[in-house]
Amino acid sequence: MRILIGGGSGFVGRELTRLLRDKGHEVTLISRQPGPGKITWGELESQGLPPCEGAVNLAGENLINPLRWWNESYKKDLFSSRVDTTKALSQAIAASSSPPHSWVLVSGVACYKPSLTAQYTEDSEWTPFDLLSRLVKEWEAAALLPENVAKTTKQVIIRPGAVLGRDGGAMKQMLLPFWLGLGGTLGSGRQPFPWIHVSDLAGIIVRALEPLADTPPSSSPQVFNGVAPALNTNYEFTKELGRVLRRPTILPVPGFVMNALLGSERAVILTQGQKVIPKRTLESGFQYNYPDLTSALKEIVN
Ligand code: NDP
Repeated sequence: MRILIGGGSGFVGRELTRLLRDKGHEVTLISRQPGPGKITWGELESQGLPPCEGAVNLAGENLINPLRWWNESYKKDLFSSRVDTTKALSQAIAASSSPPHSWVLVSGVACYKPSLTAQYTEDSEWTPFDLLSRLVKEWEAAALLPENVAKTTKQVIIRPGAVLGRDGGAMKQMLLPFWLGLGGTLGSGRQPFPWIHVSDLAGIIVRALEPLADTPPSSSPQVFNGVAPALNTNYEFTKELGRVLRRPTILPVPGFVMNALLGSERAVILTQGQKVIPKRTLESGFQYNYPDLTSALKEIVN
């Protein structure tokens, strides 16, 4: 298959590209920068969708960019980098004379309201309640294809938790402080910590890109929670990371410090969390390589 990946140069995109190429597929990236094996967002807009059987959007300004202060301009970039790129791709798919058979958006679990007790599956109803859930709403709405196109193009939304891997994401920023023995729980530590290993997320995306065997696509997107089946808290994650690194984790970071450092609107993704169940992902028969924290963290740390 020929697969087009918006934002494919990033952390998840590199893993996905590796996996797709290993399986013999051809990958073209959509990027802000021109280069070999890439088209730019401007070229997508002016020249339309290049021939492809599958399209994915992974583009988005980093939500935990330590170099950017939490202000209106950063929030605007968080929205436009996701919503505008997703809209550009869905519109190019809709306008194409031969649209791909699969269109996959990777969004996030911030749509589910943080809670110590509630459990969320892909079927859980939700309405926006804060900035990040509003972002997910707009982002996923931007991906919707017109009904006539949705008859032939399967629409999939994957909502990952924190993506864990050696090569980027949250681990890249956490490994050094933990390695130095400066790691600790965030906030109360009791908050759920939905997570997935990057190679499992790439595996879920590849499955979503596969054409449907017999049934025609439905007009609404299929949602898959992209999280590991193990339900962990921030405390369990912190202790397990300390254990595999053989480092102490005795320095908790209070919630108010996180709010001051990151801004309370985005600190919620670390100081609060949701119990997210990958019900449909498991029902689809997906086999996780890293279903539990110990196996995932050992792979990353070793
Ligand atoms: P990255 O931070 O690695 O970014 C992905 C790509 O987005 C970049 O390589 C870049 O591509 C493009 N990009 C960055 N900033 C902008 C911008 N301002 N405008 C347009 N494009 C931009 O993301 P990940 O690979 O970690 O994540 C992929 C997707 O999954 C993102 O949408 C993210 O929100 C979502 N997600 C990630 C999680 C995680 O823990 N990593 C958790 C939950 C959801 P280029 O420079 O080539 O243009």
